[in-house]
Amino acid sequence: MPEETIFSKIIRREIPADIVFQDDRVTAFRDIAPQAPTHILVIPNKLIPTANDATPEDEATLGHMFIVAGEIARKEGIAEDGYRLIMNCGEHGHQEVQHIHLHLLGGRPLGSMLKRA
Ligand code: 5GP
Repeated sequence: MPEETIFSKIIRREIPADIVFQDDRVTAFRDIAPQAPTHILVIPNKLIPTANDATPEDEATLGHMFIVAGEIARKEGIAEDGYRLIMNCGEHGHQEVQHIHLHLLGGRPLGSMLKRA
């Protein structure tokens, strides 16, 4: 069994978070350290640690995460100007929380995708 992270506690509302959307499959909440005026994390309620752990049975949930992200972008008023969806994976992807999450970032020009560190 994969180990739960703080995100499971957020899903169960055991610790505070600014939840902007929740249904039976996904939860979306504002990132605690926003990198842009809008920075929301969309996560599956089911614990999938990384993109490497996604299976065909997760297809509908993963697709739903994209649909929800788009709906939130429209509600936040950033859909027309555009935004970025990012999912980090593993060490090289700099994934810090081992519960898959889609970052929704927008509200300002975000620049090019990758910078040399
Ligand atoms: P990662 O680097 O894993 O792709 O992104 C993890 C994100 O989760 C970071 O942007 C970080 O600020 C956010 N985060 C970590 N812990 C918490 C928390 O307890 N609450 C909220 N709202 N966001 C968190």
